[in-house]
Amino acid sequence: MDKSWITMSRVSPEYEKGLNAFLDFAFAHTIVKGKIRCACSCCGFKRWHTREVVYDHLICTQFPHGYTIWTFHGESLIGDASNTSNISQDRITDIGGLPDQDQMQDMVREAVGFNRNVEIEANEFIDEVESTVHGFQPEGFASIPDDVSKQCNKYWKVDIIDEQGVVRDGRLKVLEVWSLPAGQRVVVHFNAEAQPVGNAAGLLSGFLGIVVTEVNTFPISYRSWDKVPDSYKEACFNSIKAKFCLDRDIDKHFVIKKLGKNWRNYRVFLFGRFYKVEKTREQNLEKYPQFIPFDMWAAFVDYRLEQKTKVVFL
Ligand SMILES: [Zn+2]
Repeated sequence: MDKSWITMSRVSPEYEKGLNAFLDFAFAHTIVKGKIRCACSCCGFKRWHTREVVYDHLICTQFPHGYTIWTFHGESLIGDASNTSNISQDRITDIGGLPDQDQMQDMVREAVGFNRNVEIEANEFIDEVESTVHGFQPEGFASIPDDVSKQCNKYWKVDIIDEQGVVRDGRLKVLEVWSLPAGQRVVVHFNAEAQPVGNAAGLLSGFLGIVVTEVNTFPISYRSWDKVPDSYKEACFNSIKAKFCLDRDIDKHFVIKKLGKNWRNYRVFLFGRFYKVEKTREQNLEKYPQFIPFDMWAAFVDYRLEQKTKVVFL
């Protein structure tokens, strides 16, 4: 899918066409009660809105430049990673001359409390509105374990390094990692036991927690983590490596192992939260959670019921 429009001017026909294609895609894949997660910098993937509202938000503020794999809108981390490379090229050459329209929009955003670097720096103004008006648990978070959602609501002070090797301070929430401009990565420190340490470890942990909740990336219908194809794990790791400095084999080993653990935990969580033991299999299939494709849920339920009879409960 063409994503070159993401960095184009919001008043260009290409941008509008691209945005509509994004909305078509997102509403075909991740609609819940008529709404999807809004990708605008204010909603930050946390608020859910109708198509009209999301369209307005993403016309009034730029689509996040770093969000080129639409994991929160049904796109798998697998297979489409090649799309990001041309955008990073565009961005590097594009930094000098913002169109007037963009400068004006940025002035307006700054006047109402938005920062031009909202993807990087914490924005207390937004955070305050979020917690007082909407509360910390948007409805979409029902599908995410509490400990993961707790990690998502926290700001982590981390070092961010660009392709030239320049390091700067950043404060990021887990979901904001997706919006990091291409080529910028979070620096992760490891201890002698090859465990990540410090703030970046917390951010990475939350990120790995959220990655496995994307059932399009790691379908829950596989019988075990070993059965999930290596190519999936590999491609997912490469997407993670685009946002975090994880260049050694030992880093990769840590991440994939952690993903496996999180994936197993997530399946236990989903079954516990959405499968009603007092109801029949058919009733449970009928009332399937809408963020999981029906066939995937059915295969998962059957597998769990089969496991239960064997008393080998993973
Ligand atoms: Zn929004």
